[in-house]
Formats: sequence, C-alpha cells, structure tokens
Amino acid sequence: MKTKLTKKTKFIFITGGVLSSLGKGLAAAALGALLESRGMTVTFQKLDPYINVDPGTMNPFQHGEVFVTDDGAETDLDMGHYERYTDAVMAQMNNYTSGRIYYSVIEKERRGEYLGGTVQVIPHITDEIKSAVLQLDGTVDVAIIEIGGTIGDIEGLPFVEAIRQLRGELGRDYTLFVHLTLVPYIKAAGEVKTKPTQHSVKELLASGIQPDILVCRTEANLTVELKKKIALFCNVEPEAVITAIDVESIYEVPLSLHEEGLDDRVLEKLGIWTGAPYIKPWEELVQRIKNPKHTVTIGITGKYVDLKESYKSLHEALVHGGIANSAKVELKYISAEDLEEGDSQELLSGCDGILVPGGFGSRGVEGKMRAITFARENKVPFFGICLGMQLAVVEFACNIAKMEHAHSTEMDPHTPFPVIYLMKEWFDFRTGKTEVRDETSDMGGTLRLGAYPCRLKEGSFAHKAYGMDEISERHRHRYEFNNMYREQLEKAGLVISGASPDNTLVEIIELGDHPWFLGCQFHPEFKSKPMKPHPLFRDFIKAALNYRTKCQMG
Ligand code: GLN
Repeated sequence: MKTKLTKKTKFIFITGGVLSSLGKGLAAAALGALLESRGMTVTFQKLDPYINVDPGTMNPFQHGEVFVTDDGAETDLDMGHYERYTDAVMAQMNNYTSGRIYYSVIEKERRGEYLGGTVQVIPHITDEIKSAVLQLDGTVDVAIIEIGGTIGDIEGLPFVEAIRQLRGELGRDYTLFVHLTLVPYIKAAGEVKTKPTQHSVKELLASGIQPDILVCRTEANLTVELKKKIALFCNVEPEAVITAIDVESIYEVPLSLHEEGLDDRVLEKLGIWTGAPYIKPWEELVQRIKNPKHTVTIGITGKYVDLKESYKSLHEALVHGGIANSAKVELKYISAEDLEEGDSQELLSGCDGILVPGGFGSRGVEGKMRAITFARENKVPFFGICLGMQLAVVEFACNIAKMEHAHSTEMDPHTPFPVIYLMKEWFDFRTGKTEVRDETSDMGGTLRLGAYPCRLKEGSFAHKAYGMDEISERHRHRYEFNNMYREQLEKAGLVISGASPDNTLVEIIELGDHPWFLGCQFHPEFKSKPMKPHPLFRDFIKAALNYRTKCQMG
C-alpha cells in the first residue's frame, strides 16, 4: 500500500480487553480533551467490527443511540462522546464498520480493480482499513482511533492486524497503543485481581501488539505494588499503568486520568512537547455538577430500560441544561403504555417539565399524546423532539383546531387530516437537489439526515433561546409537517417559530399562551456540550425551574 504521509499526525490506537462496556469511548474522549487542553488539535475514529454497513438500520435498544453528524452520517454513539468532550467535529469518515470496509472492497473487486488477483483479508481488507485510518493524516496533531469490541473477538481481528501493520509503517514516534482493561475487585478475597488483565495483554501480544500504556478500570485505587505487578507481567513500565477509577460524573474522567498522568505518558511516548494543560474549565465544570443549587424533575415518556442507552445524547443534553442553571436534573421515566391506561394527573404530577423524545412507529403514541395534553392544559413546560414535535402538532390539531382524527400518516395512513405526512418532493439545501420519495421507497434512503438551516421567528421561545435569526441543526426523520394545514393550525393558535429558509419545511412549533411549549423537528441534543449547553435545553430547564418555584409557592 502506497500512502504519502505528512508526518504530522500522530495516531493513538485504543483497544479494550476482558469485557465490553468498560468505557473505551469515554476514555478516548477524555484523552482527547486532555490533549486539547494542552493546545493540540485532535480528531477521532471508531472502527466497529460488526457487519452492518452503519448503525442506521440497527435497533437502538440493542445497539444504543444512533448519533447523527452534520454531514448526515448515522454513527456509533461514541461519536457523541468525542464531540461532547472536544472541539472535534465528527463526520462519515470518523466511523467505519467491518461491513463498510468489506462493502468497498467487494465493490472494487466487482469493478475489476484487483486485476484478477485473489482478494484476501490480508492485504486487501487490512489495506482498506489502513487507508480509512490514514484519511485523518495531516488533518490534526493527534488522531485517536478506537477499536470497537474486545481483544480476542474473531470479527475484530482484521482491525487489530491493520493497526499492527501501521506501527511498522509509521514508526514508534507516530503510533501509540493504549489498552483498556478491567482489574476487578473480588469481594470474597477482599482484593483486586490482575489475572484478567494479564490474559488480555497476552491475547494482544499474540496479535503482535505490545501495549504502551494500560488503562485499568477499577473500583479501588491501584497501589504502587499492584501497578508494579501488572507492569512486570505485561511488559510495560509501572508509570504506564494508569488507574481509571469509577467516578461520580462522567465529566470527571479527564481530571481523574490526568491525575494518574495519562496525558503526560502519552506525550512522552509520542515525543510531543507542550505546555502545562489548562484543565481549569474541567475542574470548574465538575464543581458545578457536584454542587447544584437547585433540583428539577423532568418527566420523559418511555421505558427506563429502553431509554437509557438509546437516548444517550438526550440525557447528556438535559444534564447540560441543568449545569447552565446550576440545577441537578432528575429524570422520571413514564411508560407511555401506562399513560394510555392510567391517570395522567397521577403519573405526571411531580414533573416540573415534560419531554417527549424522538421515536419511530406507533407504540405508546396515545400515551405520549396524553402527556402532551397534560403539559398544554396544565401549563407545564413542554419540549417535544422530532416525533415529540410531530405528536404535539397532532394533539393540537385534534384538540384545539378541532380536526377530528388528525394524525401522522406514519401511525394512521388513512387519517382525514394528515397534519404530519411523507413529503413526496422536497428541496435538499445540502445537495441542491430535489429529493423524491414515497411509501415504497427504501427505508434508509428516505430519511432527512444531517444539518439543515432554519430561520427563527422574532419574539418566539426559540429566538429568545438562540439569540440568532438563523440556526443549523441535525435531522433524522422521514415525516414532515404538512403545509396544507399550516394556515388552519396557525389560525387556531399554533406558532410556527422556525422554518427552512425557503419556508417549505416547518422546523419548530410553539404555543403562545404557555410559559414554555416548544417542539422541534430536529435533534438539538446532538449538539449540546457540557461546556456549551444547548440553548433550547438551557431554556427548557429554566422554565421547569420557574414552574417548580411557582408550584412551591402554591
Ligand atoms: N418517526 C418520525 C419520522 O420518521 C420521527 C423520527 C424521530 O423522532 N427521529 O419522521
């Protein structure tokens, strides 16, 4: 493989051992934050071993959230961590799956690009992986590459082999291997155990990779003796054994890894000279998170188990909204199905704000609508996102505009008032082309994905929040507000406070006669960061705090 290297970007490869869910993505993001705090530019890439071409069609309850980038890529939720912790902007090139790698190799084979040769995992698949990684070369000072899955997985082998080859090609000064493992505390023995880490490193060695740094997830701090023991068995220096202890808030991870010297070791090994890190903003952030002045309860419709991983960015954005208001945000999950049968008053009392998140399909829709009616009638702050916005339009149409049986055609294809429908033709600002679709179109291909501009109406909740006339937010949906009913709904009191610059796509709706009622067709949660809380989440939490104070005063 011939690649002209810039000799600028240094690559850090992060692998994981022992078991999944150790927080590799968070560790990568936190390391990125530490490098940025030393004035370096960083980017990331996640290499996922599964066969799906992207996570767009995967069940979010199985895979977790699908994170959407500005360029409309449907990516792994780790992209969300990377963007929240750093200034890096993720795109299609920052997330590859085995499926995508194989797909492109097979396409080349069909085009005859391999000139009749036998196409093999080594070198063809590994070459494809390496060129995916090397696309980042020259773009930043440091690129952090996270290998999904656990060392030892069959499907991850080509990725591990590709990074092994890269060390040979780029050299030690340009590559670094960080391995994240688990050092479990065994209650019965009353001590932590290093054996799983030893085995995991052995497995990595069998693939030809000697880790340079070990990051060990533990419940208890590792003593110097233990670090020495791990170092001895795993061929690393004791200083390169880093404790990654469980912390209260995920935003403490950069600080805790810095205290352990992770960034110092990384820079030392890569031969990079920088000044002292400026980590004060992280310290202040953690202080704010740990010492909130207020508490606020937000009700979210959906089951806890379903919501936890599949709405990662949403949860974080709510936390950020709390940070902006010095408030701790408590989340109350209200099953939409319980709402369908139960008493909404009883189920929703105690919520200072109600949020109906995005979703697909008709499960629990009636319950979600009940939550919206409750928020509207009782003047509880309401935030509807994507499906939540669409249902707020439907609720308004049915109950205020008196359009009996109004609905979204996603749930009721034969509704007499299709206020939300599949727009057959729409002008795509990003591509400058008119897109066409209908009910029979391919699922994946018909979503409106990625960043779109939106003009805000002066004096609206949205305009007050953003303090700007035009914004850009990320989308992931098929259905749209139906302009045929726009006038009728506006006459009945619905406020259209955001629309595409050509005014054909309705992006935000509000209610005037309400302390804060807003629904947006896009997903603002993808652009919220702890250091820069999203304006809509900030104002929603503020409205919820006001509501709480009002209730307390009776
Ligand atoms: N199901 C709705 C649509 O496809 C909403 C999607 C969403 O909430 N992300 O338009």
